[in-house]
Amino acid sequence: MTDPQHLTSEALAAIAHARSESDLAPIEVDYLGRKSGRISTLLSGIGKLPPAERAAIGQAANEAKRAIEAALTTRRAELEDARLADIAETEAIDITFPGPPLGRGHIHVLTQVQRQIETVLESLGYKVELGPEVETEWYNFEALNIPPGHPARENWDSFYFTPDLLLRAHTSPVQIRAMQRIKEPPIFIITPGRCYRRDAPEATRIPYFSQVEGLAVDKGLTVGDMKGTLLYMIQSLYGEERKVRVRPSYFPFTEPSFEFDVTCGICAGAGCKSCRHKGWLEVGGCGMVHPQVLRNGGIEPEKWNGYAWGFGIERMAMLKHDVEDIRLFYESDLRFLEQF
Ligand SMILES: [Zn+2]
Repeated sequence: MTDPQHLTSEALAAIAHARSESDLAPIEVDYLGRKSGRISTLLSGIGKLPPAERAAIGQAANEAKRAIEAALTTRRAELEDARLADIAETEAIDITFPGPPLGRGHIHVLTQVQRQIETVLESLGYKVELGPEVETEWYNFEALNIPPGHPARENWDSFYFTPDLLLRAHTSPVQIRAMQRIKEPPIFIITPGRCYRRDAPEATRIPYFSQVEGLAVDKGLTVGDMKGTLLYMIQSLYGEERKVRVRPSYFPFTEPSFEFDVTCGICAGAGCKSCRHKGWLEVGGCGMVHPQVLRNGGIEPEKWNGYAWGFGIERMAMLKHDVEDIRLFYESDLRFLEQF
């Protein structure tokens, strides 16, 4: 016959060592299980004992049962408290804890290129001029020697608010406004800004884009001065190995007028797929300011002359970074923007 007190101390020791509910469950079965638990077996065997011993053993067994049940209950409560305390420690949200660092953005690639252009030309003495994006017909066209009905207007298909008011199709109106404001040459300005044209978006054009135009008005300026200025700008932006060339062209506001090309950065002028085997890439237009345009800006063409150019900033950025689709600049896709 097993001693109930011995069973009790054995059970209490096991319960005290239990580390979780899964440790306690088999102990409970082992001692208190109805069929074969050791205390249960003891109680069910009482009938076989001599009558004189039954009462004492029965009482001791019942006390053992109660003690083990109480120990189990207490230990379960302790373990549950410990488990909750552990969760509180490891899973609680500490609202005072600093969050993960936010990713830092940076300046958009078009702004970067615009600022680089500004920096280069400011180093030559040019000043940045800004003007309104909503312009009058006169500033956008007529002052630039593009009268109503002029076939060249087709190249600047515009968004009109009224017959006289439109979104500027180029930043050239700022040149007129600058001449009117400054009045007395020398004038050396650049005019970065947004322009709008009724073009369907495609790989090379979009209805809203940025330009930077330059205007120099002084005495005795030549095409050579213009070409030298643009060569300096291109080599500062793209590297000294780049060459430039001008090809005769036509614009109403310059005479003579030129297309301005730069050697392909991938093949260095030899010809490759990127430049369609020409070796040269078109950047924009330039030329000597038409005397009538100077007059419209309030400058006497008999005393002064000038040169001007107009380049797309997106185009400049595409050439600098070998971007093949202008729309990428405006899609706000971080996979694209994070490369610059
Ligand atoms: Zn090439």
